[in-house]
Parts: sequence; structure tokens; C-alpha cells
Amino acid sequence: MCGIVGYTGKQKAAPLILEGLKRLEYRGYDSAGVAVPAGDHFNVAKKTGRVANLETIAARHKLLGHCGIGHTRWATHGGVTDANAHPHVSSDGKIALIHNGVIENFTSVKKFLLEKGFTFQSETDTEALCNLVAYHYAKEAMVEGDSRLLESVRKTLRHIEGTYGIVVLSLDMPDELVCARKGSPLILGIGDGENLVASDVSALVSRTQNVVYLKDGELARLTPDSFSLSTINEGEIEAVIDTVTWSITDAEMGAYAHFMEKEIFEQPLALENTMRGRFSEDGSTALFGGLNLSAAEFRQIDRFMFCACGTAWHACLVTEHLIERFARVPVEVDYASEFRYRNAPLHPNTLFFFMSQSGETIDTLAALREAKRKGFRVLAVNNVVGSTIARETDGGIYQHVGPEIGVASTKAFTSQLLIGAMMALYIGRMRDMSFSDGAAYVAALKGAPDLVRTVLQQAPHIRKIAERFSTYTDMLFLGRLSLFPIALEGALKLKEISYLHAEGYPAAEMKHGPIALISERCPSVFFVTKGEMFPKVVSSMQEVKARKGLIIAICTEGLELPDGLADELIVIPDCHEAVLPIVATIPVQLLSYYIAVNRGCDVDKPRNLAKSVTVE
Ligand code: GLU
Repeated sequence: MCGIVGYTGKQKAAPLILEGLKRLEYRGYDSAGVAVPAGDHFNVAKKTGRVANLETIAARHKLLGHCGIGHTRWATHGGVTDANAHPHVSSDGKIALIHNGVIENFTSVKKFLLEKGFTFQSETDTEALCNLVAYHYAKEAMVEGDSRLLESVRKTLRHIEGTYGIVVLSLDMPDELVCARKGSPLILGIGDGENLVASDVSALVSRTQNVVYLKDGELARLTPDSFSLSTINEGEIEAVIDTVTWSITDAEMGAYAHFMEKEIFEQPLALENTMRGRFSEDGSTALFGGLNLSAAEFRQIDRFMFCACGTAWHACLVTEHLIERFARVPVEVDYASEFRYRNAPLHPNTLFFFMSQSGETIDTLAALREAKRKGFRVLAVNNVVGSTIARETDGGIYQHVGPEIGVASTKAFTSQLLIGAMMALYIGRMRDMSFSDGAAYVAALKGAPDLVRTVLQQAPHIRKIAERFSTYTDMLFLGRLSLFPIALEGALKLKEISYLHAEGYPAAEMKHGPIALISERCPSVFFVTKGEMFPKVVSSMQEVKARKGLIIAICTEGLELPDGLADELIVIPDCHEAVLPIVATIPVQLLSYYIAVNRGCDVDKPRNLAKSVTVE
């Protein structure tokens, strides 16, 4: 959840670490801190709030070393205070440590350490880990210099239950970093005369494109000119160096006011990148290179199970609708966190898909492991190449939309919708979908980026609507069939970034409860489309109007609404069913973005949230 950066090299470490932390701030921003060895002590600066607060106080500390560690925290154990901020220093002053994750047995570890005379300054689980490293470090005094810290960390981790990505410093070896991971991401950046470690590649790409993705149970030791990998239980192992394709400009905001705004407007390009090279030569179906399943094997599947969290779960709901509609294969969708513990009876011939932008969402990862343990074949849809989920699946589909920094997902969501639509096509064409229907479907998908462009051109109009609705405190989002999940997504976006109470429902469900909320103080956003649902949705709108509710209608072009029914109208292009959810998402993204901006909210870093949820 949090951000981690470590540096060892020839440059001054602190400014580089602060720059890295700023790039990672979207991963947690309760507090931030940095530590560098300074002779007989660590120089530590830490402060609640944003990295900007840390920068202010860091200037007063003499953070001069060429090796150091930095952290942005997303608190799990202990309040948001300076004392609980990382890095933590052991009570004997020898070890400094940063941690992402949760130490589940910290109470018993802490009791043990208190008996041994260690003291604690914070309420965190992390400090127990830090003092335990110091305990083993003191016991390892006889180990030859180079591996003393590494061996101490290794011994410590054998006694730790829970999840962690950690980076550790010792005073005795002031240019050495030791790191380890279990359940929380860590990536090494291999530079020229310098080496780095971070929880996310965006903190590394300004220094190097060469990275090593640590796996669970692995440790690494870094000095300016060397790095080595080993496991908790065994000795040294070979490292595989990957090259990152993201550049630093991908992770920068450019002329936009927020990353979320940039990412909303990047969507036409993101969709093109998701589709690139993924259609058959005859233009009638989709191609996926990394499924590691032959068409014959795929053809045998009787059921699909999709597991995800948050926004990705909404993308799975749309995918369910499209696969069942176009391929006529039953699909089930579950929250990853529920699937993991629900012990559901499963059809033996089920294929699992796990959707997670970051590929690090711990609930989704745990669900994947549970499905694997049960012997099912598991595939994934991820954006971050080399992420834990991507590495643990039997195959999958990368989204290729570049880094998504805004905490509220936008371009990753529409790209997941697109992949879902392409999957429905792929499976449909293996079954009953004709060549001409497949070709029309492909043509529609190829046209999606341009349709999204036309909706984005309405941003000034949607901004005006947002001005009118920024002072309301409740809002309903209502849609039917494949647009019901988009109603859920619209409500979630509004909750996440503007802290308004919002709910999404299938439009007809409104009368079974939510209608009690309707008044002139609770506006509704309706998705209105042609076909058999049109008169039904119009009836639901009439029911809202009869109760003085204001209505924003997101309506496909060519439809005529009764006079005065919609108080505000956003017209979107009429399009293929597989593309409609993508196109209909854009107005609700813009609406929630502009409402949040009007309300003065910190759009990219909404309170209590963090990108990439790596704690359960
Ligand atoms: N559990 C630790 C704490 O609350 C680490 C949280 C994080 O991952 O930022 O301090």
C-alpha cells in the first residue's frame, strides 16, 4: 500500500529519495519519512501528511549520506502521527527499517523483545520487526562483515507472520541496503554505479530502466556496485533483469491539473494501445498472445469465474454481461476478498480470471492462490508488467495503458472494459457468433477510441453541469444491463474523490428501496439507451420527477425524451453494445472529476484511499 524507496550510490541519497517518494505518494500519504546513516547514528526526518511536509523539515536535517531509505505510509497499526511514521530505528540505534504490509504476530514479537530490554517509540507493528532485526544483528556479531545484515534479516523473517516489503539499513555498513518481500511488491533498479529499490517502477524510471522484480520469499543485498539475490530458506539465486518500457514522462502530469484529468483524456490512446495487434488478420475475432491455452482447450471451458476488487470488479460485471450475451457461456463474478473465504462449490471445468490494474491487490492475489490451490487454471488481466499476479498466473492479458497514478481508476477501467469486450468476442467466435457479426464487432471496437474522443469534447458542458450539482450531498446512478455496472462505477468515482454519498442501482430496482431517498435534494444520473429498455428507463425517470428529483440524463443520440424530464442532458454516441459501457463511462468520470475539483478535494489523493491495496 505504501511507497518505498531506497538508494545507494554516488549521489546524495535524500533528494533522490524525496523525488521517488513524490512519485509514489499515490500509494499512501498519511506520513512520509527518510533516513540516512550519519556516522554513529541515523539522521531521520519524518512528518505526518504529504511528502511536501517532509521536504520542508528535511531541509533542516543534515541528510548528507549517499545511501538511504524513504517511505510514505498508509497506516494500518497505530494512528497517523510523527512517531508512527517510517523509517523506524531500533532501540539500540543500529538498524533503520521501512515496511509495507502487516506483521500479524507483532504482539508476541514485541513481548519477546520487551523482555530482552528493547524499547518502543511507536504503536506500529513495524517497530517490532525493526527491533527483531537489531536483536539478531547483535547476535550475528561474529558473521563476516558482508553478510551480517543479510543473515540478521533472514533469521528475523523466519519468525515473522504476515506480509512485508522491507528495506533495512545498518550503521556498520552505511552503503548497504538489504530488502525482502512477502506479499508486498519490491523492485530493484539496477543502475551504473548505483542501485535502487522501490515498491513501484515509477520511482525508478528516472534513474534506470533495468529492473529485477523480487518474488515472495526473496531477499536482496544492494551496494553501489553490486546486488545479489537469495531466498529466506536457501542460498543465493540468479537474478533476471527486465527492461521497463515506461518512461519518466508517462509518470508525469504535463499540462494537466491532476493525474486523474490526464488519465481521463488519455483514454482514446490507452484504448488503442490495449487493442494494438490483438485482432485476427481476417478482422473477425480477437487474439490474445499470453493466455497459454490453445483454442481447443479454451473451447472446452464450461464456465468463467471473474474475481476482482473495487473498480475492476465493475469491469468484471460488464464482462459477465458481454460474455453471456455474445458467447452464451455462464459467467460468475465475485469480490476477490469474498471468494477467498467463501469456499464456494465450483464447476470443475471453470476458468478463472483475476483483474487488477496493479497486479498487486492482495485480496485478488489471495483469491488467485486459493483457486490455484484448488487446482483450477488461472488467468489474469493486469496493467503492471511483472507484477505479482502477472507472475503467479498461468497466463493473461496485459492492458498496456502506461502507469495509472490517479488513485481513482479511469483509463485502466475502460481498458479492462475493452479487454472484457474482446474476450466476449473471442469466446463468442469459438462458439456461435458468425463471421459477419464478428467483423462488425471488431469494427465497433476499433471505432471506440474515436467515440471516446467525441464524448471528451463535451468536457466543458459536463463541467457546467458539475458546477450546478457540486453542493448536493447525495446522488443516485441508475442504469440497466451492461450499464448497471457503469452506474456502480459512477457512484464509486463520486464517493472516492468528492466524498459525496452516491449509490448505483439497476434503474428498476430504485422503486424497491432507494426511491425513499429521492427529493429535490437528491439528484439522479440515468443512463438512457434505445431498445426495449428505453420505455422502462423513462418510466423510472418519471417516478423520480414525480418526487421532485432532479435528473441528469446520459442519453444515446437519436432518442427523444419527454419534454422537461431531464434537467441536464449529456448525449453520447449510439454504438455497438460491446462499446457502449466504455463510452457511457466517460461522462461519469468527468462529472465526478469536476464535482471533486469544485468541492476543493484532492482529486489524485483522496482521503483514506491508496492506489494498489496491498493489505487485506
Ligand atoms: N503496518 C505498517 C504501519 O502501519 C506499515 C503500513 C504501510 O504499509 O504503509 O505502520
